[in-house]
Amino acid sequence: MKFAKVVIDQDAKAIDKEFEYKVPEELDVKLGERVNVPFGTRVLQGFVVGESDTSSYDESKIKNILSTVDGFPVIKSEMLALMNYMAEKLHLKLASILRLFLPSEMRTGKVKELLVRYCELEENFEYPSKNAKKQIEIVEYLKEKKREKFSELSSQFGYAPLSALVKKNVIKVSFEEVKRQIDYDHISGEKKHLTDLQQRAVDTISENKTYLLHGVTGSGKTEVYMNLIERELKKGKTALMLVPEISLTPQVLANFKARFGEAVALIHSGLSAGERFDEWRRIFFGEAKVVVGARSAIFTPLENLGIVIIDEEHEQSYISESNPRYDTHDIALFRRQYNDCILVLGSATPSIESYTKALDGEYTLVEMPVRVNGMEMPKIVIIDMLNELRHGNSEIFSIPLLAELGNVVEKKKQAMIFINRRGFSSFQRCRECGYVAKCKDCDVSLVYHRYENRLKCHYCGKRYKALDICPSCGSHNIKQGAVGTERVVEELKRFFPDVAIFRMDNDTTSTKGAHRSILSQFREVKPAILVGTQMIAKGHDFEDVILVGIIDADQSLYQADYRSIERTFQLITQVSGRAGRSKDQGKVILQTYSPRHYVYRFAQNYDFKGFFKKEANLRKVTNFPPYTKVLRILFSHEDENIVAKEIKVCYNKVQKVKEKYPDDFIYLDVMKSPLNRIKTKYRYQILMRFKLEKADEIEKEIYNCVDEKCKSSVFYEINPNNLS
Ligand code: ADP
Ligand code: ZN
Ligand code: ZN
Repeated sequence: MKFAKVVIDQDAKAIDKEFEYKVPEELDVKLGERVNVPFGTRVLQGFVVGESDTSSYDESKIKNILSTVDGFPVIKSEMLALMNYMAEKLHLKLASILRLFLPSEMRTGKVKELLVRYCELEENFEYPSKNAKKQIEIVEYLKEKKREKFSELSSQFGYAPLSALVKKNVIKVSFEEVKRQIDYDHISGEKKHLTDLQQRAVDTISENKTYLLHGVTGSGKTEVYMNLIERELKKGKTALMLVPEISLTPQVLANFKARFGEAVALIHSGLSAGERFDEWRRIFFGEAKVVVGARSAIFTPLENLGIVIIDEEHEQSYISESNPRYDTHDIALFRRQYNDCILVLGSATPSIESYTKALDGEYTLVEMPVRVNGMEMPKIVIIDMLNELRHGNSEIFSIPLLAELGNVVEKKKQAMIFINRRGFSSFQRCRECGYVAKCKDCDVSLVYHRYENRLKCHYCGKRYKALDICPSCGSHNIKQGAVGTERVVEELKRFFPDVAIFRMDNDTTSTKGAHRSILSQFREVKPAILVGTQMIAKGHDFEDVILVGIIDADQSLYQADYRSIERTFQLITQVSGRAGRSKDQGKVILQTYSPRHYVYRFAQNYDFKGFFKKEANLRKVTNFPPYTKVLRILFSHEDENIVAKEIKVCYNKVQKVKEKYPDDFIYLDVMKSPLNRIKTKYRYQILMRFKLEKADEIEKEIYNCVDEKCKSSVFYEINPNNLS
């Protein structure tokens, strides 16, 4: 290589392009390597993303690459191609894309290989003198054992005699790298005899294309995935399986480790920086053949991919909500094509978008409509909470839910209670003057956490003193908002003082291993009740759970966003799927104030197809995705004048684009974001909706409407998950 194109590893729009450098003759530089280069007056790191034998500039003015960082290309050729694809299609900065491909630990240089010191005897060593008893013991020990860890010898015989021997050249010390061991539950990985439906799915999913596996909860999708992966491994290929972070349960990990052993690498947020670094390198150097991980694992450098699986493909968490924004599906489709391999999207409740593609023939539909245990799906009973009120029950729990819980306790079984809000209550408000406690930095009300007796901001994490008197009028009359997990636990304890009650939410699982520990405790105790947020909705497989209670089913229903009904359907189906997974029939009590909403009717009958038809039709007539595209451009800055001014400039340009495509635009407006301020930054947005035919063209023009030099941070979202 004579000239290299280098992307500087800096998060700045102005320098986000390929710079040309000369490769000095004595330096061996390969495509994809990290290099140190002179940049202005500084030395910066960059990535070699291109090469050429000639230069387009005056050769004498091109600077030399100074040195290489790793000595091997950390960005493999597939990832370079992916970088170009993402830059073009998603309009992302090159440096920020490249950063997705490496564990951040590697860039900051904070984590190193874990080296262990080993001791051996030198060849012609001098035997220690008679008085040095401990030293003699060490020598005799090593004669026998040949080799031992320094730390082991030191703790057995003491540090002083050992280091004396090292100093006298009796013992030589060498370093060896060890990989950090990741914790998981050890279980037997016995293969199951596949049911006919499972076998049929495995047989069908055999061509290098994209499949949508629609299998009800408990239909045994994991077993199908494992069989597919096994088949690819036998062909010498590798496999990548993604699961949403919250359903990356200890059980899933244990299953995969048991079946594939050392060949599995795990990538999830519970790993320490060092563990993630080691797992990444095991993947990079081809030791690990199977990767199981959350969203970011889609970027792991597995070579020779045979299959990519996205489990629970409908999950919102597959779309990153922060910069750089990407949809895992797009990346998976790219990798499928690049490797010419299989892609499986699995779910009990596929997204409207994916199911539409399956019906259109873009994906191949594979169905598993029956549970492995042959049981009926748990019966869902809908409880009208207004009716409960009319009958004088103003408690959190309806009479039927309490009765069913009593039944669970009596039978020494287990129940799960789902409430998608952590903390004690959603806000605190003064009943006299209406004062609501809000965050100083964000435009949101604070959530009360009883256990710590604090108010917390769920957007920035700031803590405040809880209210006992209103700071505005001095009244003691403080009202609590809608219930959260803490409150549900407290109420349950009142009704069932002798029953073990566990809580699982972001607050109780913030420490390493807490997630696993709560689940394994719950598994051991009967009767028991597990209260939790979304975290308990997916993936879990407890055979004694015969009851699921949904406290506030409407919570996700009335959000200002076109996906809220779809999301409610998915959530109910997933949570209900936790009940009755073994020998006992399960039951679900669903509490709502809108019992006649169509979403509950379809969910109650497990009628995905009926729901899809209704919902897809609604989207079509109201012109919403997947029949159109929604694009949001979000501007944010600490100075409200700056955001307001800059977004106006952008909006005027977007209006010009709209004038150019008058028949394609359905909607265009500029406004303050509903959450006008988060983490001290003001937020404004431009929202638009346009038809699909010329969407690519329009998108490109829209991206050009944003001034590269504007001071606000700018964030684009296609079909955003939430508009707040
Ligand atoms: P899903 O992901 O489709 O909801 P799982 O993969 O969690 O379902 O499987 C549900 C349960 O059925 C698990 O306990 C699993 O071990 C068990 N299972 C799966 N396949 C079989 C089989 N062929 N025979 C017996 N049990 C099975
Ligand atoms: Zn007040
Ligand atoms: Zn805040």
